[in-house]
Amino acid sequence: MKHLWSPWRMEYIENNKTDGCVFCNVQSMVDGTENLIVWRGEFSFVILNRFPYTSGHLMVIPFVHQPNLEELNAVTRAEMMEFTSRCTTILGSIYKSQGFNIGVNIGEAAGAGVKEHVHIHIVPRWMGDTNFMSSVGETRVLPEALEDTYKRVKAAFDGS
Ligand SMILES: [Zn+2]
Repeated sequence: MKHLWSPWRMEYIENNKTDGCVFCNVQSMVDGTENLIVWRGEFSFVILNRFPYTSGHLMVIPFVHQPNLEELNAVTRAEMMEFTSRCTTILGSIYKSQGFNIGVNIGEAAGAGVKEHVHIHIVPRWMGDTNFMSSVGETRVLPEALEDTYKRVKAAFDGS
């Protein structure tokens, strides 16, 4: 049976092991391979997804704990879109990605893993990667260690 791959289906499946909101908790940590935050702006931050679908799977998240885009103010939304764009520039330059899936799951019905704290997914894609992934079933392909991805993406943000 052909498995329809979607980058939005599962996220932070281990969230219930943590006390409180994982996206609030990471903000109080020192940025590094522990919290995976690569960039902090005025209203939002960029973080590696701990359970990436492809190497370089990033998320843009507001500092404030809000469940949807409507609850954010306009400057926060604007900064998040700016960072989303910067993510595609940086991922394109590091990984030579050929496309991107960019999306937001709002609410449990939409499959949001952390439905209390809105976040934008940026997933780099390459021609043929879905075919490869469906051939290995549910297993996600991790060709690069998270620590290595962190160092490369962080260096690119710091230099941009
Ligand atoms: Zn939160």
